[in-house]
Amino acid sequence: MSHTTQNTHTLQFVPGAEFKRRAAEVVANPFLRKSFRGAMDFLMAKRAAQFPDPELLERQRSLAEHIRRYSLSRLPQLLEQLEANLVKNGVKVHWAETPDEANAIILDICRRHDTKLMVKGKSMVSEEVELNHAMHDAGIDALESDMGEYIVQLAGEKPSHIIMPAIHKTKQQIAELFAEKVPGVSYTEDVDALIQIGRDVLRKKFMEAEVGLSGVNFAVAETGTLCLVENEGNGRMCTTVPNVHIAITGIEKVVEKLEHVVPLYGLLTRSATGQAITTYFNVITGPRRAGEKDGPQEMHLVLVDNGRTQAFADEQMRQTLQCIRCGACMNHCPVYTRIGGHAYGTTYPGPIGEIISPHMMGLAATHVLPGASTLCGACGEVCPVKIPIPDLLIRLREEATHDAKPGHAPLVGQGAGKTAFASLAYKGFAFLYSRPALYRLFAWTATRFRFLTPAKQAGWTDSRTPLKPAAKSLRDLLAERRR
Ligand code: SF4
Repeated sequence: MSHTTQNTHTLQFVPGAEFKRRAAEVVANPFLRKSFRGAMDFLMAKRAAQFPDPELLERQRSLAEHIRRYSLSRLPQLLEQLEANLVKNGVKVHWAETPDEANAIILDICRRHDTKLMVKGKSMVSEEVELNHAMHDAGIDALESDMGEYIVQLAGEKPSHIIMPAIHKTKQQIAELFAEKVPGVSYTEDVDALIQIGRDVLRKKFMEAEVGLSGVNFAVAETGTLCLVENEGNGRMCTTVPNVHIAITGIEKVVEKLEHVVPLYGLLTRSATGQAITTYFNVITGPRRAGEKDGPQEMHLVLVDNGRTQAFADEQMRQTLQCIRCGACMNHCPVYTRIGGHAYGTTYPGPIGEIISPHMMGLAATHVLPGASTLCGACGEVCPVKIPIPDLLIRLREEATHDAKPGHAPLVGQGAGKTAFASLAYKGFAFLYSRPALYRLFAWTATRFRFLTPAKQAGWTDSRTPLKPAAKSLRDLLAERRR
């Protein structure tokens, strides 16, 4: 059997053209909508139960925001300090500006160790750089060992949620998948039995793999420590059993001190899965030392940029990098909870994906995503590090439809969402609203001739009632009141 040689590159990462079609497909599927709703309600309730005191939560969020902002304000220095201390601890540090560079670095390490099998702990950055795809092309099996990731890999899909990758799948679908793809397994809907099947397969693979790969939740500069948060123990297996451990993460994950990790960790687990603490919290300080019984002989850290420095360079956009990837903004988003993750076509879906993907993939490919929000503000309210997501969405909408302002460096894909019709409409509004006499005439005419409003209005009336001027303008109403 080969669990791992399938190509998992099944989603086209061009969401601009495909987003509406994919979203419409899910919205038209009552079964999927119901299962998303149920899963999100469950997660929202679990999170809420962890934060019974709003004032305490506010203080915790402020502290977490402060730590993340402080870390980012010293990002270049902290990264240098992290590298120096990791090297001191025996870890080889690599810098990758692009996904291709990250994959080439990892491939090179794998080749030097004659790797046939890599076991992977959960890592969204490895998804972001499409590592499995690169490994597959190089003839190396990259096996996901997180249960949710294992399921989506078997199905040839991408994760639909950053914390719960297979949340879009029912137990019946997983039962069918295991019966079809795992040799010797018969159909069972018993969840414990399904988990045991996965564990049996994976346990053997940990022993066979030459390389283990993991993500990183927090990288501590002062001590050169990598922290890994997980529930299944597979992360610890990936980082300790194979002879080589490769950790991969974004450059923004660095914090200065170990004591900065504690408040962030507490908010991460509570916001993500409603747990006060995860089953495992791994603190990794280098490869196996003399006299130690386990651990890898060799350890690497790949620090990935992939557009993060673009966000870092802009004071407002930099707030995007405060993210600790808890997924709470997704669970509370009225758009994500109706369309799920695959519709977005990006590694990071939902509100966090809408603000981070434009930096990673450019606005040309992602300019519709910041528009996939009602701006209700729920994402910003639940974000444990207080990222003002709605403000960033509005800013990105503007950047997508305008050229860069003088003195500002353009974002990649700046202005890609600009259309001749929209430009004309904005100019028309600006012209009208800056001329009071003309605006009064417009309001008078629009209210008197509202019966001429077309019943069909391009795009808008596909799912809404037509926009129609009010029977009386505000000016008329105020004049009436004064009489
Ligand atoms: S933006 Fe905030 S709520 Fe969303 S994943 Fe990041 S930390 Fe969590």
